Amino acid sequence: MLKVLKFGGSSLASADRFREVKNIVLADPARNAVVVSAPGKRFSGDNKITDLLYLCYAHIQYGVDYTNMLLLIKERYKEIVDGLGISFDIESEFDEIDNAISMGAPQDYLVSRGEYLSAKIMAAYLDYDFVDSYSHVFFNYDRSIDREKTYEAFKLAFNASGGKIVVPGFFGTMPDGSLALMSRGGSDITGALLAAALEADVYENWTDVPGILMADPSIVKDPYPIPRIRYDELRELTYMGAKVLHEASVQPVRDAGIPVVIKDTQDPDAPGTVISEHFPDEEKGGEFYITGIAGRKGFTVIEVHYGDLAHNIDVLRSALKILQSNGAALEQLSSGVDGFTFLLKSDEVRQQIYSIVSGLEELFGQGSVSVTEHVSLIACVSRMMVYRSGISGSIFSALGDNSVNIRTISQGASELNITIGVDDADFNKAVQVLYDKFTKRG
Ligand code: ASP
Repeated sequence: MLKVLKFGGSSLASADRFREVKNIVLADPARNAVVVSAPGKRFSGDNKITDLLYLCYAHIQYGVDYTNMLLLIKERYKEIVDGLGISFDIESEFDEIDNAISMGAPQDYLVSRGEYLSAKIMAAYLDYDFVDSYSHVFFNYDRSIDREKTYEAFKLAFNASGGKIVVPGFFGTMPDGSLALMSRGGSDITGALLAAALEADVYENWTDVPGILMADPSIVKDPYPIPRIRYDELRELTYMGAKVLHEASVQPVRDAGIPVVIKDTQDPDAPGTVISEHFPDEEKGGEFYITGIAGRKGFTVIEVHYGDLAHNIDVLRSALKILQSNGAALEQLSSGVDGFTFLLKSDEVRQQIYSIVSGLEELFGQGSVSVTEHVSLIACVSRMMVYRSGISGSIFSALGDNSVNIRTISQGASELNITIGVDDADFNKAVQVLYDKFTKRG
């Protein structure tokens, strides 16, 4: 049994948090490969090391004295090393960084030192081998990952080590040998690559939340974590604005059929959230429930009233052409005998709305078009929907009973979600009402 673990910045923000990580790693003999982020915020208002490193580079770039900024970063690491009571030569690490800066080191190198030092300290503290992502994670020229080369390098490094390694997340090597960063939050990708390379049994992604939550915690108080979620459901939720692990970042483990578990460093024994392609042991149509609820504000509804649309499908094409020529992406489309409705993202059509409306009125006549702004979309996502009847009924009655007016309705053909549109002013209330309904709290 082999588990690959990734710890996010908030789980590495201080010596105490490093200690918790060590307890977690040592609690299970299968936890033999660890990927770390750079230290994050210790408290609200604190700074993430990665952000400080970007700021440090900005100083260098604009010719402003950067020494205090670098010192601040060094102090953060020194505090961790001293707090852990390990012997780790932080001075010479920073001398090396300072030296590289004086030789004109690029931004990606400087910012990568956040993860690099985090991993070196963690390796010393756990007594695991340090494996540098530089020379083990390889990018293609377009910055996509060369998976074959990366997997080979990770496998070799793991086998050559004592079977216990720590790897820094977030960076790798370009084909020309230069160091390059991934996008922000990229340590999730490094963890997924390592898990796929080592054919791990599970990829544990450790954060400071109890898993993927059923609803946005800034709207619903202490929402339940989702015990199990399929990748396609995760995609629906992230598309609708849920701030969780992006499913693209775990593509390597998805392709390899390795399950992902989101775990909470503050509550390590809690089950967290399991993400998988399928749950074959799950009974079809088990208990009636929703996997999660997510939504976004800021949509615009354009209604076109036009008689006898059923016999005039060409007119729809002309209307879509108007959207296309204005560069507007269509979020939803519904049509009936007497007209049709477009749902668009407001910030994408703010400039073009007048041109779209006048184009449509030219086609369908003065007064045929009405525009409603400030509409929110809320998606109720559930893999059970396809087996259950009555979910949409429950959604509508719950909202109706609470005087939330529904402006639009749509259900994907895959029956994975039901998405409703409400006024922005009703958004929070609607999310809360739906959450209560499906967790049977209300
Ligand atoms: N430290 C980097 C960031 O803040 C990468 C990561 O944490 O995954 O984005």
